[in-house]
Amino acid sequence: MLNAGYEPLSVVSFRRAIVLVLSGKATVVADEPVPVRAQTVQMNSPSVIVLTTYVTPPRRRRVAVSRRGILRRDRHRCGYCGGYANTIDHVLPRSRGGQNTWENLVACCRECNNRKGDHTPAEMGWRLRVTPAQPRTSTWFIPDSEKYEPQWAEFLSYARVA
Ligand SMILES: [Zn+2]
Repeated sequence: MLNAGYEPLSVVSFRRAIVLVLSGKATVVADEPVPVRAQTVQMNSPSVIVLTTYVTPPRRRRVAVSRRGILRRDRHRCGYCGGYANTIDHVLPRSRGGQNTWENLVACCRECNNRKGDHTPAEMGWRLRVTPAQPRTSTWFIPDSEKYEPQWAEFLSYARVA
């Protein structure tokens, strides 16, 4: 569900999406060619809807850091070489006081992680490809458990750029 300004707001159930559309509170932006019968109407299954009036988004809050969250934020790309990442690296190593924060954790491939060990990127002569930061909460309302629909990508990347 997108806000009237097209920022992602939340993931709503299929049923709720249809109720919102049928009551005129939202319109369908993207759908799938799967017909669904709701009340007396037949429509395609909505996959992205936009609210017709702007609602105030929930207040920004600190997002809890997690291993899965880091991998997702960095899209499984190693912060150092860009390869496939399935480990997490402390940019400033824990042994040097590095914290478990969004700013100090990056996705990392196994090879870079092994090579880096307890060194800082500077000591390795490496540069981070990204500046690690807490994800913008407006793009963060899709729970990890949620199946990510391909049609959502366009609207989620829009929010990241904005
Ligand atoms: Zn790497």
